[in-house]
Amino acid sequence: MKIANVGGRAKLVLGEDRAQDVEEASGGRFGPEPHSLFERWADFAAFFSDKEAAGVATESFSPAEAGPPSPSPRQVFAVALNYRDHAAESGFAAPEDPLFFTKFVSAFSGPVTEVVLPPGRVDWETELVAVIGREARHVEVGEGWDHVAGVTVGQDLSERALQRSGPAPQYSLAKSHRGFAPQGPYLVTPDELVDRDDLAIGCQVNGRPMQSARTSDMIFPVPTLVSYLSQIVTLLPGDVIFTGTPPGVGMGRQPQVFLQPGDQLVSRIEGIGELHQTFVAPGC
Ligand code: ZN
Repeated sequence: MKIANVGGRAKLVLGEDRAQDVEEASGGRFGPEPHSLFERWADFAAFFSDKEAAGVATESFSPAEAGPPSPSPRQVFAVALNYRDHAAESGFAAPEDPLFFTKFVSAFSGPVTEVVLPPGRVDWETELVAVIGREARHVEVGEGWDHVAGVTVGQDLSERALQRSGPAPQYSLAKSHRGFAPQGPYLVTPDELVDRDDLAIGCQVNGRPMQSARTSDMIFPVPTLVSYLSQIVTLLPGDVIFTGTPPGVGMGRQPQVFLQPGDQLVSRIEGIGELHQTFVAPGC
């Protein structure tokens, strides 16, 4: 099942470019807001297990019109250094426990956007994003996926100058400029994926491959992240977890590469879809 957020209404996406409105297709039982689905995810997933609702109109779906699949999470978690080769290119040892920061929700956007470049050095980080579908407290690793509604593609755009200013890294603010958390094009339930733990992930800048890896390279896979977090905080329906980026970011290159006005960034995860970001100078 693929669920998109179009204009604040949840849509069941059929194929690539058709959709049904969830509220209409469920006869008013679910929706219309995307967040409301996560609150009743098990009921919703069971109700829609037969996919397309008969006798309900379909409409065209365009990723350019979509917002983030979970637009109003109460908590957003992002993992630093969750791929060994990315930790190495960043000049850090691989962590022994997951290392978290947040991306503030005002940075969220849909999958196809223009991003205004703030002063500094803006870099890409393509990431699998997991959305929580069931409250999680003290969850075992083996039950981690049971608490995930679905996954989507995310970009953890990062301004490296602010990130590295001061005596300790300032991840959260440096990764929360307006438009710095594009996600989409829709939420894909794990059962739709060939292997939810092993997906090709990567990005291109102006057609040049920059990142190319597999999510199975994560040091702490999705269920481990859910379990670890749930020992400390209560994970709530709709919460968003950015699971970390593979190697190939601009900061780790020789010479370093950062995003410039006019650059086109395409981020892709196997079985889910693509994000398209165009970068513009301030005042454009
Ligand atoms: Zn990241």
